[in-house]
Amino acid sequence: MTIGVVGAGQLGAMLALAGYPLGLDFVFLDRSADTPAGRFAPVLTGDFADQDLLRQLAERCDVISFDWENISVDALRAATRERRTRIAPPLRALAAAQDRLSEKRTFERLAIATTRFAPVDSRRALERAVARIGLPGVLKTRRLGYDGKGQYLLRQVRDCERAWQRLGGVPLLYEQFVPFDYEVSIIGVRSRRGEIALYPLNRNYHAAGILRLTLAPWHAPRVARAAAASMRRVLQAFHYVGVLAIEFFVHQGRLIANEMAPRVHNSGHWTIEGAVTSQFENHVRAIAGLPLGPTAARGHAAMINLIGRMPQRRGLLAEPGLHLHDYGKEPRPRRKLGHCTIVEANAGRRDSRAASLLARLYPQLPFKP
Ligand code: AMP
Repeated sequence: MTIGVVGAGQLGAMLALAGYPLGLDFVFLDRSADTPAGRFAPVLTGDFADQDLLRQLAERCDVISFDWENISVDALRAATRERRTRIAPPLRALAAAQDRLSEKRTFERLAIATTRFAPVDSRRALERAVARIGLPGVLKTRRLGYDGKGQYLLRQVRDCERAWQRLGGVPLLYEQFVPFDYEVSIIGVRSRRGEIALYPLNRNYHAAGILRLTLAPWHAPRVARAAAASMRRVLQAFHYVGVLAIEFFVHQGRLIANEMAPRVHNSGHWTIEGAVTSQFENHVRAIAGLPLGPTAARGHAAMINLIGRMPQRRGLLAEPGLHLHDYGKEPRPRRKLGHCTIVEANAGRRDSRAASLLARLYPQLPFKP
């Protein structure tokens, strides 16, 4: 069986690495073959919305998936109509996650608490949204935002002008700023037969909008139960197939959904070494129509993203038990170039090792696990 993946980034590469031992083949589509997944599998190169290319992809595979969200739902639907190539996760879930407004409405419809929000299409509408929702707040582009891109924090009414200059002209969303205590995410997977498996809760640390560190399992039983209930609701509502991630703020013990990603997720990278079955393997199992694997943790994992500059391989690998993943990308500021994971026998040891690794790699970061 061949799996087609739109997007050939590191997520796609890790999908292929998880799928090969199961006897699955992969073909990718991306703007360039010089991509992380291009090191392992053929890449059809061109625009993500190119009908001919998408049709070629559909002809070469049994099921199409994607490793990033910013692709055209309409183009994908049209290109797969003729051969009825399956797409997983479902396009309805992709469409909902692509637009922050429909994402928030999905959460509301499923009675999942989320930030207060208002769509913003004009300078006047921004002022009205600020008056209604209050300050501080975050103005975000509805589409194409990731890793904190396309966001502006407003503290005072007079920030409206600057925020509008920076982001205006495309559909926007204004939302309440949440003075959260911490951030968590949950990764879940649903098979074609409707079987659901959930990974333990992740605690995530961001800086400048980018994920830096994930600790998992994060022991917060009440929060974990609430996150699991939300995850099940979303998986069931979309008759979902594949891996889904939902990110939450935790504020005074309550969960507030921030966003969801209809794909394997950076906060689930620890599952490669830290869970019985990785999120990547479970995604390919799900979309290939295979049974899911167990999602239990095999210890206490910390995953650190390697961003902007790759540290010396030799130094990192001298750390006992450290697993390095170098995506083979050109260094660039704020770019995710790789990640590393450690798995320890208990949470205390994991947290202290994560803190010392982090201090060594990124001494300027403002947090400590
Ligand atoms: P996002 O792209 O929406 O996931 O935002 C990236 C990061 O920015 C989040 O993980 C938070 O750390 C921060 N952030 C985004 N929206 C808010 C908000 N409404 N309140 C507080 N922090 C936020």
